[in-house]
Amino acid sequence: MAQVLDGKAHAECMVAEVQAAVAARTAAGRRPPCLAVILVGEDPASQVYVRGKVKACAQTGIRSLEFRPSAELPQAELEALVDRLNEDPEVDGILVQLPLPGHLDAKAALHRISPAKDVDGFHPVNQGLLLEGLPALRPCTPSACMHMLAAHGVELKGRHAVMLGRSEIVGKPMALMLLEQHATVTIAHSRTRDLPAVCAQADLLVAAVGRPGLVEGSWIKPGAVVVDVGINRVEDPVLARRIFQADPAKLKAVEERGWVLCGDVRFAEAMAVASAVTPVPGGVGPLTIAGLMKNTLQACESQVG
Ligand code: NDP
Repeated sequence: MAQVLDGKAHAECMVAEVQAAVAARTAAGRRPPCLAVILVGEDPASQVYVRGKVKACAQTGIRSLEFRPSAELPQAELEALVDRLNEDPEVDGILVQLPLPGHLDAKAALHRISPAKDVDGFHPVNQGLLLEGLPALRPCTPSACMHMLAAHGVELKGRHAVMLGRSEIVGKPMALMLLEQHATVTIAHSRTRDLPAVCAQADLLVAAVGRPGLVEGSWIKPGAVVVDVGINRVEDPVLARRIFQADPAKLKAVEERGWVLCGDVRFAEAMAVASAVTPVPGGVGPLTIAGLMKNTLQACESQVG
């Protein structure tokens, strides 16, 4: 059986590091970092994510400000709010929770955030700095995954990494970070031919597609390391029976509770063939929030010292 890469435990270490750094700042008479979170509307999943982020701020000593405008907020008012936070010297980081309601232009809003306060690392300036391998605020999910892989001593140099998914949030930045660590990187996506064969070449397989249980055990090279970024809620019993054949606990949860969370990889099948696998939940999710705390501290230190 593979080793379970415990993202939750690793995230706790990262959070403790940020907590210590914030405590050292305040003990030296400096103000704590401050993160402003904008949640437009009432999307239930976004509310859960924002709650987790605000809770992590409280845990680390980072000050958080929440803005919860209604779902009808016009684009101009969203951008005016971002402008106001950009100007505010007491605010170090700004996060616009995605997805935004359909009438809003998410890219325009994200591009409005000052690159120095762009704690999600989505601004083109920060993405460009990443492309050049220069210091920047980097997207939280991939940078926290890299941190965890390094902590577990996963060798990347010269190894074949397959990045499944090419989003701006996860796939593309993760591929760049793997390349920076001298992996040989393949980026696969919805138009890739013979996906199972491409994945089967991977010494490191990172899945970020948002398709429950897409990656089967037979797609995984024996001994590979598997990082599962996907977070999917499965309710359909027919789908559950197909993807959880080797995972009776998850199947039972769907049958009895009506839903279960799972990744893009069939965890139980992966455990039988890989050398290490991240679980869902308890893998990459907590790492992302820890990465956000690190970025907020970094944004604060680079702006106010
Ligand atoms: P996007 O929807 O932006 O991107 C999905 C990517 O997967 C696209 O590149 C798409 O290809 C590819 N894809 C979709 N279906 C297939 C398929 N059948 N075969 C091959 N490739 C496919 O998603 P995100 O990157 O934002 O998120 C991916 C997953 O990760 C989601 O489940 C999300 O919830 C989760 N997530 C988890 C986080 C965490 O903290 N753990 C943080 C961020 C995301 P194409 O480009 O061709 O359309």
